[in-house]
This record gives sequence, structure tokens and C-alpha cells, in this order.
Amino acid sequence: MIKVTKTFLPPQDEYQAILKKAWNSGWITNRGHLVKELEVQLKDYLDVKNVICMTNGTLPIQIAIKALGLSGDIITTPFSYVATTSSIVWEGCNPVFVDIHPEYLTIDETKIEAAISKNTTAILATHVFGNPCNIDVIEAIAQKHNLKVIYDAAHCFGVTYKGKSVFEYGDVSTCSFHATKLFHTGEGGAAFFNSDELYNDFYYHHNFGHDGTERFFGIGINAKMSELQAAMGLAVFPYIESIIERREAIVFAYNKAFSNTSLSLLRLREATKWNFSYYPIICPSEKKLKIILDVLNANDIYPRRYFYPSLDELPYVSGYNCKVSRSIANRVLCLPLYHDLDKSQQEKIIELVKHSL
Ligand SMILES: *Cc1c(COP(=O)(O)O)cnc(C)c1O
Repeated sequence: MIKVTKTFLPPQDEYQAILKKAWNSGWITNRGHLVKELEVQLKDYLDVKNVICMTNGTLPIQIAIKALGLSGDIITTPFSYVATTSSIVWEGCNPVFVDIHPEYLTIDETKIEAAISKNTTAILATHVFGNPCNIDVIEAIAQKHNLKVIYDAAHCFGVTYKGKSVFEYGDVSTCSFHATKLFHTGEGGAAFFNSDELYNDFYYHHNFGHDGTERFFGIGINAKMSELQAAMGLAVFPYIESIIERREAIVFAYNKAFSNTSLSLLRLREATKWNFSYYPIICPSEKKLKIILDVLNANDIYPRRYFYPSLDELPYVSGYNCKVSRSIANRVLCLPLYHDLDKSQQEKIIELVKHSL
């Protein structure tokens, strides 16, 4: 069976050697040695100023909304994983959807200003499939209207934009280290910030608001990453470059195979160094998508409809019809892409897709 992705599992003895440190210290959570070590490695590898590792990639989005004191309307994208929208609603705010660009698949920055009202407090946008939003324009709009900016950068491990980690943009950027993501800790995630003040706020918020053992700085929640999660991250880290290189070769072969077909491919934003995190194809019609899906499934190959449905169709939001996002969501398929997808498997996928066109 070939699925859309496959978790990279490091050699078990290497994972266990790291775990042994936790056994020796008798310390398995509450920001022990391993979480701190992972944060050091992340800062170094990603070249970012502030990072806090967390237990998944959703809580950092929710904490960002809380820590930035947001209320009312948050402008967001309908083309993302459900966590982007659900976090807004969960925090008692109202998602205001702005449609996406048909090729970059990120929020259409030219439509943001028209959606701003007196209740708008922030923009929460996703760098879809690791492809950055139009950060410069979003930054300018946010400044002009005094809005906060949060980037759901769950797909962006290792991505740079204009020579700088994409996590360095916005008030807060978040990432997911879920087992299906490029870099993973089983379950896990992180938040990144330029502001030291915001880093401190986040630090308290993600640990119940604790200020030492007997005082509380403010309200908090438990979003701490455990030592067991961090151990997985530390065991995966030495392989990250080779994982990305392998993916690059697979993406190159897909691009070559599909460049002159009726499929549309992801258009990367200029000045981006990408991470080869997903391989979306956009079919000419939903009917075609279903044909391709059926043919692949019949051959025990399971791509995923990332992202479907468009989030403006969620049962707990109403009043939107984001035409571009719905059209893309109906026609997009992410093809298998992972470190040990071998050449013959990929050739078979390509042949089946091309044949179905
Ligand atoms: C995976 C993902 C999340 C959620 O991350 P978890 O670690 O699973 O909580 C949020 N946003 C996007 C765009 C994602 O792909």
C-alpha cells in the first residue's frame, strides 16, 4: 500500500539512546533537558530568534489568538487544514474568509482590505504546502489597519522567504511536528516570535500561567511538549537533510512528468526556498479527480484530498462562498511524497495518473 505520506522512523537504537537520557534523569516532561536541546537545535537549524516547542501544532494557534488579545473578526483563508479555522472559533472569534489565489493557493492579498471592518483584529493566514503568502503586502495592510498577523506555518519546516526563515515573519508563526509532517516528533509543534515580550507571554500561557511553583502570571493552558516527543525530534534531526533531498528528487520527477499535461501544479512564490513538503496536482475537473482517485485506489495507492472541503463549507461557519477555494478544493489531490518512495513506485503513480488524463 502506498499512502500520501509515510512517517520517517529513525533507527530505533538511536531513539532509545536519546530516551535513555530521560530514564537517567527520571524526568519525562515539564521542559526537561531534551525539549531544551531540541529548541537549541531548531534555533540553530532554522536560524530563528525565539521558539517554544509545544505538544501539537494546533495549541500554538489558539494560544496566539489568546496571547495577542484578539477578539471579534479574524481574516483568514478557506484553503487550509481545519485547525486554522477551528482555532479561531474555539477562541470565541469570528473567521472572516477571504478567497485564495488560484495558483499560489494562499490567501488572495488583493481581497483582504475589502474584508476589513471595525471589528477586525487580525489576519491568520496559512503558507499552504510550504508556499509563503504574499508576506510583504499582508505586512503593509496589517500596519496600515493596526492588525496582528499570525501565520499557520504548519507545512513550512525549513522554508525560507527572501533569505530568511519564513517563521520569522508575522507576530507569531506556528508549525506542526505531527507524524505526517516533514519534520516530526510524533505529535508536536512550535511557535516562533520576533518579540521577546511575546515569547514571555507565550511561555507562561503554554504552561498554565505558572511563574515559578507558587505564583501565576496570568491564565494559561497545558501545551507543553514532553521529553518523549522531544526525543523523537532529536532522533529525526540528523536525517532531515537527506529526507529533504530525497523529496526534492521525487518532486523533480513529478514536475517533469506532469509539466505538459492538463494538470495545474503549485506555483511557488518568488524568492522562496521551498521544502518539498507536499505534491498537489489540480485536476481539470472534479470528475477527472475522481477518475484518477479510483484508478490509484484500485492499485492500492492512496493520495489525499488536501484540502477538502474548503473551510467556508464547515458546518459551524456560514454566509460565505469562496469560489476559487471551493473550486480548487474540489479538484486538488496530493500525490504520495516521502523519503523512501522508490523510483518504480513513483513511475507507476505517474503512469496511472497520466493514463487517467
Ligand atoms: C497539521 C496542520 C495543523 C495542525 O497541526 P497538529 O500538530 O496536527 O495539531 C494546523 N494547520 C495546518 C495547515 C496543518 O497542516
